[in-house]
Amino acid sequence: MNDKLDRRNFINNVSLAGVSLAFGMPQVTYGKTTDAKPAILGGPKAHPTSFPSWPIVERPDENALLEALNSKKWGRLNGEAVRSFEEAFKYLSGAKHCLAVSSGTSALFTALGALDIGPGDEVIIPVYTFVATYYVVVLNYALPRFVDTDIESFQVDANQIEKAITPQTKVIMPVHIGGSPADLDTILELGNKHHIPIVEDACQAPMAEWRGEKVGTLGLAGAISFQSSKNLTSGEGGALLTNDTEFAQSCYVFHNQGRNAPNTKLHSRGTNLRMTEFQGRLLLAQMERFKAQVDCRCENAAYLSRLLNEIPGIYPAKLFKGVTKSAYHLYMFRYDKREFQGMDRSKFLVALQAEGIPCSGGYGMLNKEKYVTNLAKNKHYLKIYGEKTMKDWLEQNHCPQNDQLCKEAVWFSQSMLLGSRQDMEQIAQAIQKIRKYAGDLLIFLTKINLLSVDLSKPN
Ligand SMILES: *Cc1c(COP(=O)(O)O)cnc(C)c1O
Repeated sequence: MNDKLDRRNFINNVSLAGVSLAFGMPQVTYGKTTDAKPAILGGPKAHPTSFPSWPIVERPDENALLEALNSKKWGRLNGEAVRSFEEAFKYLSGAKHCLAVSSGTSALFTALGALDIGPGDEVIIPVYTFVATYYVVVLNYALPRFVDTDIESFQVDANQIEKAITPQTKVIMPVHIGGSPADLDTILELGNKHHIPIVEDACQAPMAEWRGEKVGTLGLAGAISFQSSKNLTSGEGGALLTNDTEFAQSCYVFHNQGRNAPNTKLHSRGTNLRMTEFQGRLLLAQMERFKAQVDCRCENAAYLSRLLNEIPGIYPAKLFKGVTKSAYHLYMFRYDKREFQGMDRSKFLVALQAEGIPCSGGYGMLNKEKYVTNLAKNKHYLKIYGEKTMKDWLEQNHCPQNDQLCKEAVWFSQSMLLGSRQDMEQIAQAIQKIRKYAGDLLIFLTKINLLSVDLSKPN
């Protein structure tokens, strides 16, 4: 970072604050481009530089991969790296057991496999999630039951979980979306009350904390993902956390072709979901900087929230009281077009991108995707559950809060939070500019019909 530049900026900020005090000018004391026009109308970009790219590659990563290569021990059954990574990650997470696997999906699949989830069983999942949460249930021919979203937090509306519970419910699978913990007090209590295991989809949330404890360790098990976009990555990869020793053994056996079972009568299914030594070494090489990155994202996100909370119509996702740390896989907020002269979110996204701020509208409505509604016509599902159940299932898949959220959400990716404080300020300035000129932008963007691509979908 450039110290000089920072100091100059600081002085600018101070004098600007002085000016706005003297003239009774409203808000914004942290920049100098707020009077400029939006980039799309010919003004300068609010964020002219680029955000940190992802993934980050350093010398230890190169060494790790070469060491794995030259060791000629490429699989976990041959080498020690995956086991070492499990030890390190277990220590970081405060879990009793950690099993490294081939992906986050594999981690969820292993947990459901070890629980012997199958046809006739139901699994409760949030509707505001990545499709893997849904498909891992369907892969087991179990019935996914969607629960609507709490619009302010973007998390599952935990108060609506209980009414989704039936005698067939075998697992509740909350997701810590964006890396921020779901309402675990309510969810864990429901699990206890109904004797239903909680499997946390913590794929986006390594190191996030609920009341001082890492998420993924509070239910029976938690799944973490190391896919390319995630906060700690080896391209593909995942981990399963649990404090239950017997369950950990079942998971190991399931992911290792049903082999090495200490108590064979419990196990009848298995597959190969093992992590490679290349992934293990690459992850190990990143552990130190991973911890520093977690703190950096938190600091920047807190600062950005402070700035964005000042802008009418911009509502950063709220954290529940029990959240002591978010992993900030995503920075999420809601955009209310009524505060932007009625300008649609799609136009807001175009204008924000033109300012040099990458952004997306996040998830679409999962319960309305064709590949989800098609389940009601799937021949195996019809055979297992019958036509009436599948018809009812389709009709019950209404999530009005989620529909609303999917129209209002805006996301920034985690790597943007590895930028500087100035980057955060420029994000806020860009949005201020867009709000100030929303009327002009609306006319301009409508006129030139710039929207040939659908920016409401994540890329
Ligand atoms: C990434 C992700 C997964 C799946 O992880 P993969 O490693 O891509 O298989 C599951 N659930 C959520 C919420 C995710 O974000």
